[in-house]
Amino acid sequence: MSAYTRLSRRDFLAGAGTLVALSSARALAAQSPAMTRRTRLVMLATGGGPRPRKGRGNTAHALVNDNVLYLIDCGSGVARQLVSADIALPALRHVFITHHHSDHNLDYGNVIMQAWASGLRTRVDAWGPPPLEKMTRLYFEMNAYDIDTRIADEGRVPLVPLVHVHELTQPGAVMQDERVKVGAALVDHPPVSPAFAFRFDCPDRSIVFSGDTNKSDNLIRLARGADLLVHEALWVAAVDRLVARVPNAATLKKHIIDSHTSVEDAGRVAAAAGVKTLVLSHLVPADDPTVTDQMWIDAARAHFGGEIVVARDGMEL
Ligand SMILES: [Zn+2]
Repeated sequence: MSAYTRLSRRDFLAGAGTLVALSSARALAAQSPAMTRRTRLVMLATGGGPRPRKGRGNTAHALVNDNVLYLIDCGSGVARQLVSADIALPALRHVFITHHHSDHNLDYGNVIMQAWASGLRTRVDAWGPPPLEKMTRLYFEMNAYDIDTRIADEGRVPLVPLVHVHELTQPGAVMQDERVKVGAALVDHPPVSPAFAFRFDCPDRSIVFSGDTNKSDNLIRLARGADLLVHEALWVAAVDRLVARVPNAATLKKHIIDSHTSVEDAGRVAAAAGVKTLVLSHLVPADDPTVTDQMWIDAARAHFGGEIVVARDGMEL
């Protein structure tokens, strides 16, 4: 039997029907004492773009509730960032990929394999756009020698049957368990399509991740009334300096401007959605010391009256 499953439109609709029956996080919380525990949000890595840097890492975020780990994006180094945050790798249960740019997915296979090497022996569900299924299959094929060796030599459980892939092609309900309800919206990140934002309704609060997008009305609808909106942010005036540091990328400036959200617009999105807190993450540029935290905050503050946080790697919110 294949370890991989494709989530059909019917599955989405069935999921949506389930969600109607359990319409609020509070209703969920009433079902289980575990649901009342605080949900940890750890900003594992907060820089935008695929280059490795001394400072901010490539994008990754963790939600932990009741010692169960939900990982949102898997930029390079995510497993080490988890260890640095004292999050046990075998707690990995769900992986969500917003879109297939390498600064969001480069360590997708690696973090699962490193969790397995650290003792994982239970199911992992992975959610994201196509070709996630093919990527997963090829990753395991590429690493079959090591996987098979460790099974035979170290007595580990087979890894491949643990991983169940669900390709997302439509917005709407994604999944729900006894701790969290997850929904997705399509965002606009040309030329990458589909690209998703995710909303996590946890028992104690709601958290939305923008993924990569330009200013998005779909995201505003998804984030309506959320406690936290983790939004990507671009400092437009620094783009020329950024592009000058990256050789061999003639049209990079156009991509950055067309496909991302200025910090001012991130403030506007937060205000339009009525969120309590705006968390600026996936910062572009991620390594320009002339753009200070206070500059990021002031630019968003001009358009948003709620709390504003400039994320740093390892920050817990
Ligand atoms: Zn992207």
